[in-house]
Amino acid sequence: MLKVRRRIKPPVSPPADVSVEALLGLLRREGREPDEALVRKAYAFSADKHAGQTRRSGEPYVTHPLAVACLLAELRFDDICCVVGLLHDVLEDTLATREVLEEQFGPEVTQLVDGVTKIGRHAYVRRDEAQAQTFRKLILASAKDIRVILVKLADRLHNMQTLEHMPPENRRRIALETLEIYAPLAHRLGMSRVKGELEDLSFFYLYPHQFAEVHRKLREKMSGGKSATERIRSRLEELLRENEIEAEISYRVKRYYSIYQKLRRQGIDISQLYDYLAFRIITVSPRDTYAALGVVHQAWRPVPGRFKDYIAMPKPNLYQSLHTTVMADRGQPFEVQIRTREMDLVAEEGIAAHWNYKEGVGEPRTDPNILWLRQLLEWQQEVKDARTFLNTLKIDLYPDEVYVFSPKGEVFSFPRGATTVDFAYRVHTEVGHHCTGARVNGKLVPLRTELRNGDMVEIVTDPSRKPSRDWLTMVATSRAKSKIRHWINTEQRQRAVEIGRRLLEKEFKKYRLNPKKLLDGESLETYLTEHGMSRLEDLYSRVGFGKLPVRQVLEEFAPRDQIADPPEQPGRFRQAVENLLPSGSGAIAVRGYDDMLAYMAQCCKPLPGEEIVGYVTRGRGVSVHSVDCPNVRNLLYHPEREIAVEWARGDGRGFPVQLSIETEDNPGMLARLTEVIAKGDSNIRQIEAEAVEPGRGLIRVLVEVKGRRHLEKLKSAIQAVPGVLEVDRDMAGQRGGALPAGR
Ligand code: MN
Repeated sequence: MLKVRRRIKPPVSPPADVSVEALLGLLRREGREPDEALVRKAYAFSADKHAGQTRRSGEPYVTHPLAVACLLAELRFDDICCVVGLLHDVLEDTLATREVLEEQFGPEVTQLVDGVTKIGRHAYVRRDEAQAQTFRKLILASAKDIRVILVKLADRLHNMQTLEHMPPENRRRIALETLEIYAPLAHRLGMSRVKGELEDLSFFYLYPHQFAEVHRKLREKMSGGKSATERIRSRLEELLRENEIEAEISYRVKRYYSIYQKLRRQGIDISQLYDYLAFRIITVSPRDTYAALGVVHQAWRPVPGRFKDYIAMPKPNLYQSLHTTVMADRGQPFEVQIRTREMDLVAEEGIAAHWNYKEGVGEPRTDPNILWLRQLLEWQQEVKDARTFLNTLKIDLYPDEVYVFSPKGEVFSFPRGATTVDFAYRVHTEVGHHCTGARVNGKLVPLRTELRNGDMVEIVTDPSRKPSRDWLTMVATSRAKSKIRHWINTEQRQRAVEIGRRLLEKEFKKYRLNPKKLLDGESLETYLTEHGMSRLEDLYSRVGFGKLPVRQVLEEFAPRDQIADPPEQPGRFRQAVENLLPSGSGAIAVRGYDDMLAYMAQCCKPLPGEEIVGYVTRGRGVSVHSVDCPNVRNLLYHPEREIAVEWARGDGRGFPVQLSIETEDNPGMLARLTEVIAKGDSNIRQIEAEAVEPGRGLIRVLVEVKGRRHLEKLKSAIQAVPGVLEVDRDMAGQRGGALPAGR
């Protein structure tokens, strides 16, 4: 079936009457007295210079500067502003020169027109470079006189309103520039109406399908909703009258682009969007705004978390209003904005509402929007490159977000408080998992470092690095949070499965039973189902997490008679430890785990009484290190693999300790040392000696000690032997004192 869809027109507000008389009429509003002769002269000059030129629409060119001037007058800007609007293209597009302009209109107007004029583009200058230079010039001129940017915004708005006459390939570029730079600028200057129109028009040209979708669905929603809306409106009127609050009520559908953004942000479909409708209550006094709010909240139930008091706390662009969302009778929520007439003016027109007509030239010195522009320029003083300037400007246009660059120049935005870890996860999940540090603007910084606007961030990764739980406290984006959490959960579970499997194997083998044979078949299936598990791995992980005692599993699956008498045991950990470390060991309990495979690390061989730390290895249980072990500190240490361990009761046997003894190369040194060690109540398991340089010898001895105190005593006894230069405990295994070179 052929479906004919009506072509949607660009969202242009109905054109006002565009003529010199209309312009003067607008300028005379509120008893103002514009310089009529000057306005007429500017129009005549512009018409003369642009004579013969046409716009793409076929109209005479002068209609454009005239429309720009009318927009400015509508926005309540002064006659000079409108004169500049009339003349804004003569330097750029006609043969008129600065000299002629200055002669005719004086230096003030000329300077303003010059500020709006593009920098001439030479054939060898790239488009983005020329655009950046022009923009920089515009901002510099605006800081001297804010009217430059106001004229430029009106110019852009009219160009957007007539964009359909441009060739399609130009539309996209212009619309994108508008959305990225001019709309945020209008927003920053508090001109919400201009901003809204610029956004909707850009949206229309940049994303035609999405625009059509929002447009169509909004129409559907609105059809039939009219009476309901009117009912709310008359009820509001009634309530305010009853409470003797003088106010005007209006309502409007929110703008297309802001609806679209909201849908995207919340990941919802337009059918789920409720507060596309906003009522506005304009009161006479500020006190009445709060009174009206009370009335609204009494009549309809407020939606929690949606009340905002921008009167007590104005936005940076001076916007003031109360916002709330309430539930209508049929469960349809709607937004209500409450503010005074003055606040409404500021909200709609921003900087224009602050315009000081009396002074004519200049602008209110205290307007934060102008101060902001000046400050922006101060910050940017050192930025010499125009493109960097443009990029950083884009950043500062969004006050609530942080924009940072990748080394390749891509821009990423983050909420305030985001750190380099957020950045790493934004780049790629794997980059996030393995990040060890970051370089911000070329300097190495810790991961915890907060991102600031304009930072250039480069992530340093290490494939052996893993995320840890405390990363959760240093990220601000939900993306990074969920990735870290997922990793930790997976890792923990894997660890638990491994530990559980080991524990079960050990327990089964104690009774010479084969776990593989017993943990199989129908009985296993039944057991798993009954206990809400689906796989053998789930059973392992329960055991590993300590939720299911090993003995209980054994009793369930092993034949009763075979597990009645536990065989003779040398001690809880003895067996396992001895298997792994035949040269001796100590007993260790892993805190919180009743029965876990633990063994002494070979590298540092910790002694009873020493501070120790457990480290969960893959498939070999927990290795126990001295906290001072360089391996733990430098190489193996992943916080999430750490596990608390403590010494169990000693069993009387000695612990092996490797000592390196540097000596003078005396005859009989070896004999003297063995004697001292034997007297010190310690066994020697192994001893070797070598000459390291003429007159120097190195003796390595593996001794057995009872504990730390015993070792200290032994060391000082050795130290006291004449000819002994230094005694060191060898923490890093067989290779004498030095840390292992690689990993
Ligand atoms: Mn223009």
